[in-house]
Amino acid sequence: MAKQAFDVVIIGGGVIGSAVAYFLSSRPGFTGSVAVIERDQTYEFASAPRSLGGVRQQFTTPENIKISQYTAEFLAQVGDILEVDGDKPDVGFKKQGYLFLGTPGMEDAMRRIHDIQMREGAPVVLLDAPAMAEKFPWLNVDGVTLGSYGTANEGWIDPFALLQAFRRKARAQGVTYFDDEAVGIDRDGATVTAVRLKGGDTLAAGAVVNAAGFRGGKVAAMAGADLPVAPRKRSVFVVDIREQIPNHPLLIDSTGVYWRPEGQYFVCGKSPEEDNDPEPAYDDFEVDHAWFENEIWPVMAERCAKFEALKVVNSWAGMYDMNLFDHNAVIGPHPEISNFYFANGFSGHGLQQSPAIGRAVSELITAGKFETLDLSAFRFDRIAAGERFLEEAVV
Ligand SMILES: Cc1cc2nc3c(=O)[nH]c(=O)nc-3n(C[C@H](O)[C@H](O)[C@H](O)COP(=O)(O)OP(=O)(O)OC[C@H]3O[C@@H](n4cnc5c(N)ncnc54)[C@H](O)[C@@H]3O)c2cc1C
Repeated sequence: MAKQAFDVVIIGGGVIGSAVAYFLSSRPGFTGSVAVIERDQTYEFASAPRSLGGVRQQFTTPENIKISQYTAEFLAQVGDILEVDGDKPDVGFKKQGYLFLGTPGMEDAMRRIHDIQMREGAPVVLLDAPAMAEKFPWLNVDGVTLGSYGTANEGWIDPFALLQAFRRKARAQGVTYFDDEAVGIDRDGATVTAVRLKGGDTLAAGAVVNAAGFRGGKVAAMAGADLPVAPRKRSVFVVDIREQIPNHPLLIDSTGVYWRPEGQYFVCGKSPEEDNDPEPAYDDFEVDHAWFENEIWPVMAERCAKFEALKVVNSWAGMYDMNLFDHNAVIGPHPEISNFYFANGFSGHGLQQSPAIGRAVSELITAGKFETLDLSAFRFDRIAAGERFLEEAVV
């Protein structure tokens, strides 16, 4: 069997793995070799291309808000940063904001969260029902009394464009992508030493990064680590109402139903309650059409009469990379395996966090510490310690 050696082997070449590869290969003074193993170069079932592309500032922990502020900074210059041979990628950032709707019973929590966002300098305003009705005349505000609206750096991007831009730039900077699947990790006590590939090769590794998305728990188990990250299926529907609604935000109804414009159409979905969200088979991408009929459409039609008549023109299912412990990312080395790094469990908001996570993991690997943004709250050992770092705003 062929055996090659790399300083860093990244398992998963999705948006997170490719962001880590890009930031590592950009580090001044870092001359190490970097390999990315990707089991599906078309990314057909990866989460990023199946995502909503949402980018928001409205999180509930200071760390996630700071991550979003870096996302905004990064996206403002993404064309220059990820340029290859004069070709500047365009991720199509539509800055139309997020609007979270709240019922009277939700107001206290919304005001508490808003205070956190204000302290962190997030550009978010609270709107009462008349203010919402004035700003969004198509919106029926019956039953909702408060809206939380992001006034800057919120909206959505083309997720596949960002993934491809990271990947292309990483490759241009010398990162090697392997079209293969990691099927085993060799461990020697407190270190991992190599990654075994389905095709038969073994890559000796100075450090290994788990960036396997919703397969993160499986990859952790290859080295004997227990990571509570598992897939949760989400169906997305594209609807045609034969009309566009200018300046429509990414709207999150008080019921959890969400929708946003997509070109001439709208995309929509809804996450189920936790106790109605079983673990799917890893290859189960069958769309739940009854979910649209029963849970999504009635809410959209109630909120906006323009959705009373519509046609579903497309649909797909994708997997959330759910951290079952506290719905937040797990970042950094395993407490007992010092060179096995984690970038997992984004629980439905990993696309937008990819720039900050890529940068942070590259700092940990090369400098042994966070240099820009302290993300130690996301450390692995909080799980064994039973210390939840809860993100409340999981859509
Ligand atoms: C319906 C839906 C809507 C979403 N909406 C948003 C949103 O609005 N905003 C947001 O920020 N996020 C959103 N997300 C979440 C986001 O897509 C994920 O958090 C993000 O894609 C995680 O990136 P990743 O690179 O870790 O995972 P992925 O994008 O899934 O990439 C992981 C890659 O690892 C590869 N891989 C896995 N195991 C192996 C192995 N053993 N060997 C080799 N390769 C392997 C896979 O093939 C895959 O390409 C959404 C997700 C879904 C499903």
